[in-house]
Amino acid sequence: MSLNDEQLDRYARHIILPDIGGMGQAKLLAAHVAVIGAGGIGCPALAYLAAAGVGQISIIDDDVVSRSNLQRQILFNDDQIGQPKADCASAAVHRLNPDCNATPIIQRLTADNAAALLRDCDVVLDGCDNFATRLIVADTALALKKPLISAALGRFDGQVATFRGWEENKPCYRCLVGHAPGRDDINCGDQGVLGAMAGMIGAMAAIEVLRQIIGFGDDTAGKLMLFDLLSARFRTLDLPKDPGCPTCAG
Ligand SMILES: [Zn+2]
Repeated sequence: MSLNDEQLDRYARHIILPDIGGMGQAKLLAAHVAVIGAGGIGCPALAYLAAAGVGQISIIDDDVVSRSNLQRQILFNDDQIGQPKADCASAAVHRLNPDCNATPIIQRLTADNAAALLRDCDVVLDGCDNFATRLIVADTALALKKPLISAALGRFDGQVATFRGWEENKPCYRCLVGHAPGRDDINCGDQGVLGAMAGMIGAMAAIEVLRQIIGFGDDTAGKLMLFDLLSARFRTLDLPKDPGCPTCAG
């Protein structure tokens, strides 16, 4: 794929980076990313993925915009309250970058439809708000061998991790969280969240998606990045592959 004059201009600050270049930008334009959840993480992630020139984005979310979302879900406005988030986010993506073709999918991702929804993408970004969906996304991404960026946040804490659990010595999501079926959801409605931190975690998740597509810098698959905003501490941990993991081991 070659870039036209407008694209050479639009992406000039990427192209000049030796770790991205024209080749990396062409990879972005050819890439298809599936984003699960157009919420606190999804909105800022989508903004940066769109601006970066990711060619195709599937936005999977069955929720509608509510007034309490607007404190952090920056793709939406008051006029869109009650409208499907996937539609509103897709419209915002098109406004940000005509190169980016966003497809709204107003469905809840379930065990029944996950494979069909994720089969055609190159990278999966999970910014959903519940543990049950996270497990389905993770298992499906592993089975389809799609790199998974998993991002989560609450109150003043956030985390981002990349998984390619089908590879030797690389953990899967279940190597991290175990197999407890009844983990309680902790959501922003119950416990609150600092709005600007959603921007930070969403942007970090977008960076990890770009890293998987382009391949710049160190490989972060199998690393867990932890952000503690109250104490302003940021750490990166190595996640071991669980040799007894029934999902990815052996
Ligand atoms: Zn595993």
